Amino acid sequence: MRIILAILMTMFLVGCGDSDSQSNTIQASQSEQTFEWKLVTTWPKNYPGLGLAPENFATKVAAMSAGRLKIKVYGAGQLVPAFEVFDAVSQGTAEMGHGASYYWTGKSKAAAFFTSVPFGLNAQEMNGWLHYGGGLELWRELYDEFNLVPYAGGNTGVQMAGWFNREINSMEDIKGLKMRIPGMGGDVITRAGGISVTIAGGELYTAMQTGVIDALEWVSPYNDIALGFHQVAKYYYYPGWHEPGPTLELIINKDALASLPDDLQAIVETAARAVNQDMLDEYTARNNEALISLVETHGVQLRKLPDEVISELRSISVEMLEELADDSDLSRRIAESVKAFQRQATAYHAISEEAYYQARKQK
Ligand code: CA
Repeated sequence: MRIILAILMTMFLVGCGDSDSQSNTIQASQSEQTFEWKLVTTWPKNYPGLGLAPENFATKVAAMSAGRLKIKVYGAGQLVPAFEVFDAVSQGTAEMGHGASYYWTGKSKAAAFFTSVPFGLNAQEMNGWLHYGGGLELWRELYDEFNLVPYAGGNTGVQMAGWFNREINSMEDIKGLKMRIPGMGGDVITRAGGISVTIAGGELYTAMQTGVIDALEWVSPYNDIALGFHQVAKYYYYPGWHEPGPTLELIINKDALASLPDDLQAIVETAARAVNQDMLDEYTARNNEALISLVETHGVQLRKLPDEVISELRSISVEMLEELADDSDLSRRIAESVKAFQRQATAYHAISEEAYYQARKQK
């Protein structure tokens, strides 16, 4: 009996040993497997700030994975045009993309919620909502039918209201105003009696110079000074009511992501998180320097939008967000989630961030 038991035990142990070495072999071959991905973007190659985030992402992933996941970044038009990034990644022509969700409202209107909505969350609040308030889960649910997994991939912080060649003293001055302002902000301007137009970044300077448009919004001092808008516009208005904390996105083809071993998936997640924060840090530093240069070196006139105008634009925005929420059940759930988060964040930030900014200014 003992002999039989001993034989059985030996067989069992040998069996275990075999399966152990088998799983070690699988792990070893997995960790040696390398992947080469294409990342397409909606930005010109190496564009300051916005276009550097995907480059940083690729560099970080290569370093963390010791070269097991190599990602090649393509500027807009190099592999696919800017506005075909979503489809290219959805269909697997490229494994990844970098852009902004509000470019894809033609696919699903609710995509607007995940970049920025007028009078919505600022950058800090967007990050809180996405990562700890259920926002990212809703975003992933929305993109699931397109075979995509989204990640937050950068944030510029509060933008500027834009460059104007017409003074804005009341809502009357918005009437007939020809302004380059895309997305929901543009719809608000149109509803307020203005004319919103969409013009590519590279053509904005000439459009403003020749009077094709009266006003434009781009980003904030760091990006705007590089395009020279101060040379062709009289006033630089604030605050950026239309884009208070725009989140950029990294999107990954779902099948491509599933093909990665767990550790590479964790590296992708961690690198996205790092790049998302890094862009905000960069804008926080560079906007300050650029604003000083615009005002002190170039004599730019800063103007605050009048309270009456802000108040009216806010009313129109609230109305439009309600219409957007009515688009679908999921749109309604996203709208309710972000609205509840904003209500609480506004109350707490009134006695924290906002109160502190006031306190810091007091002499
Ligand atoms: Ca903008």
